Amino acid sequence: MKSRYLVNVFASALLSIPTLGLAAELKVVTSFSVLNDLVQEVGGEHISLTNLVEANGDAHVYQPSPMDAQAVAEADLLVVNGLGFEGWMERLEQSAGFKGVKIAATDGVNLIHLGEEDEHHEEAGHHDEDEHHDEDEHHDEEGHHDEDEHHDEKGHHDEDGHHDEEEHHDDEEAHHADEHHHHHGEFDPHAWHSVTNVLVYVENIRAALVKLAPEHAAEFNQNAKDYVKALKALEKDLAQKMSQVPENKRNVITSHDAFGYLAREYGFNFTAPQGMSTEAEASAADVVKIIKQIRKDDIQAVFVEKVSNSRLIEQIARETGAKIGGELYADALSSPNQAAGTYIKMMEHNISTLVKALSN
Ligand SMILES: [Zn+2]
Repeated sequence: MKSRYLVNVFASALLSIPTLGLAAELKVVTSFSVLNDLVQEVGGEHISLTNLVEANGDAHVYQPSPMDAQAVAEADLLVVNGLGFEGWMERLEQSAGFKGVKIAATDGVNLIHLGEEDEHHEEAGHHDEDEHHDEDEHHDEEGHHDEDEHHDEKGHHDEDGHHDEEEHHDDEEAHHADEHHHHHGEFDPHAWHSVTNVLVYVENIRAALVKLAPEHAAEFNQNAKDYVKALKALEKDLAQKMSQVPENKRNVITSHDAFGYLAREYGFNFTAPQGMSTEAEASAADVVKIIKQIRKDDIQAVFVEKVSNSRLIEQIARETGAKIGGELYADALSSPNQAAGTYIKMMEHNISTLVKALSN
């Protein structure tokens, strides 16, 4: 036993010398491709990075693999978006026995409170009345999270939208944990569609890396500084491009409601039949409502999303005569050789697709 142990120690010491130097690399796990790109930008070569929901994957309905559990078990730092975007994460952390540090990259960003502007969600979820009462059931294999359940009740909120669960839901729901609370979409989780917000993401990531691997602080700080510079240039460029779209052409239809932050940033109006999560199916009533809206607002283009099912959008386009304006990237980057291989490329692609379709 003892000698074998010594041999192992000796062998791993030998192995680690050429690649790692003195200290082991910080093991970082990110939940999805956008965060993977941001962490890569800041961490550079000084971290060992593993990402869970890959390019073109759908984080709303993800099912973690045993390899994911392994990566989480070994992680020093886990970077998530939070706000219920990764509904499967807490269960994964538990089953993996995660003991590292976890940060939500959205900490401190300027969030969209759904009580305020989710008019179009309120009719999305009149099905599955009884499924949402049991916390545990939300994490079953089928991944039912019933995100939209709360949305139909939110329609009854008054303007400030702050009193919620206690008044509008039954007692059972009022006892739900915080995670669950977020899961039902108190805030729109898709905050990365605002470059201003992503500056906060990057700062959160930088701070966590510096804290956990202070020996590389200088590199992390420099990387973050360079990347922030690029993001600020991007922000300026996007705002300039979006300002070219005439005011009366700023109504956009996408398949799921991922672009609230983009809408807020640039004075656009996005509507989606599918609601905030891709888990919920759009009802026939939702589709009819959108078709009416397209006719009323004279919307000329609808947009499909790379990851979401495009069938619904295609149907809407057929019935209204609206053209399909192109493909937007919502909840995942593309693979590196496609149009949205990095966060910056994704934003550039989305904005140029929108501007092109809406400006003529
Ligand atoms: Zn989404």
